[in-house]
Amino acid sequence: MLQKKKKNQGFTLVELIVVIVIILILAAVAVPSITRYVQKSKIAKCANQRHELATQFQIMGTDVPELAVCTLEKDAEMILGKDVLDYMVEKGYCSQDITVCPVYNEKYELDISVENGQQHVEFICQCVDSVKGYVSTCSKYYNELTHNGKDYIIRDKLIEKVMEEKGGFMKVSGVIKNKTSFASNKEELYWKPYFLSKDKMILFATADNTASNSQWKANLLYIDGEVYQSTAIDKGKAAPTVIADIYNVNKKDEPQYASMEAYLKAKGFEKVS
Ligand SMILES: [Zn+2]
Repeated sequence: MLQKKKKNQGFTLVELIVVIVIILILAAVAVPSITRYVQKSKIAKCANQRHELATQFQIMGTDVPELAVCTLEKDAEMILGKDVLDYMVEKGYCSQDITVCPVYNEKYELDISVENGQQHVEFICQCVDSVKGYVSTCSKYYNELTHNGKDYIIRDKLIEKVMEEKGGFMKVSGVIKNKTSFASNKEELYWKPYFLSKDKMILFATADNTASNSQWKANLLYIDGEVYQSTAIDKGKAAPTVIADIYNVNKKDEPQYASMEAYLKAKGFEKVS
């Protein structure tokens, strides 16, 4: 009798609360992982789009032969008489929607460089992997030069190697540059590699696109996917800071070098949002 009565009551308030709490806990766990998943798939989509655009650019080069041999993005624009992506959409090489990075909703920028005497075309955005790819290429060169870290090389050697293999350095994209205090400086900035240790590659950006170490002066630093800017000022303009001693980072006896954060703070570098 008592048993039957209980069955008919349905959920008690306590049971209901327990169920709600469980649902809330599950949601709290699931939402961030869903967000991460969405972000990851957008980054993957972006990489596909950039790849597709580079392929279409090559196809376009068979129709417009001057394009296939140009070595600067400015020349490509001159040849076509307009923005390269606009031209590609207009002529049906690609659809409008793949010309924009799905993560940052910004139009891609064209980057043309010369690699082993061959034109190399890339469309870049702020997605870290477009600079990250360059970092891993630099790491690959480092490994080749040092036989996987077994031999010591001076840092200039790696810079020379990048110049040799790629014919120049990766240009700091407008989307990155425009967020820094160097946005109004007319000169272009170029990423050069600097290895802190066997497993740690960072980049420093300088206005000098030659195979020299640019006196280790950095306008920007790229460390673990983050960009930092020099806050030095020279003649009223944003100026680079010397980072020649950055290899001392993690030295326990020198507090200003105790960590990368401490070093960047001591040198006046600030994170670019
Ligand atoms: Zn992107």
